[in-house]
Amino acid sequence: MRLVILGAPGAGKGTQAAILSEKLQVPHISTGDIFRSNIKNETPLGILAKQYIDSGSLVPDEVTIGIVKDRLAEPDCKNGFILDGFPRTIQQADSLDKMLGELGTKLDKAVDIYARDDVIIRRLSGRRVCPECTAIYHINSSEHARKGICGNCGAKLIQREDDSEETVKNRLKTYHLQTEPLISYYKGKGLLVQVQGEGSPADTTAEVYQVLGLTE
Ligand code: ADP
Ligand code: ZN
Repeated sequence: MRLVILGAPGAGKGTQAAILSEKLQVPHISTGDIFRSNIKNETPLGILAKQYIDSGSLVPDEVTIGIVKDRLAEPDCKNGFILDGFPRTIQQADSLDKMLGELGTKLDKAVDIYARDDVIIRRLSGRRVCPECTAIYHINSSEHARKGICGNCGAKLIQREDDSEETVKNRLKTYHLQTEPLISYYKGKGLLVQVQGEGSPADTTAEVYQVLGLTE
């Protein structure tokens, strides 16, 4: 399956994309993870991306589109992929359409995970992530998060710099302005499915499976 996952920051895109990637045995492509790993390794891309990410705005389209184009051309994407955090602008969505057309394929669905801003603000302040394996935890639901140690790999968990309250507010502003229009965009193409993202991750997964016709 070829899927894009839409939703505000903190709606649960990354969590659901990781589950779907495992379930469908296709790669999970997170532009945010790609940027963060470049920031960690201090590559030229990382140095460029960091200023945008830290302020809660988007990395310029021409940069992001190039990265995704290269990634989708890799052989492991032949049988499908889960795009998490891309597209985030109409221009990115149009480019994705074009890229897939050139590869002789197209999207199956766009899954929108919706959650209100106040739910998101509360959620992101309790989020902890693993800098080594990108696992995500929440202090309300995970002992690993409360202890600060990754359950997968044992690394010390961190709070993402862009999960500070000030930056979260900017990310939400950016989302409403630049990314939310993609909901109508994919509705117009007949590809949109929507699920509730305000409950537990398992509740959301159940809805995602249902809208995609997958069995548990
Ligand atoms: P979230 O969805 O929780 O904000 P992500 O890890 O998807 O987290 O993204 C983190 C940051 O990386 C974004 O706020 C943005 O600055 C940058 N980023 C990620 N994906 C894109 C994209 N498709 N286009 C532009 N910037 C992006
Ligand atoms: Zn880990």
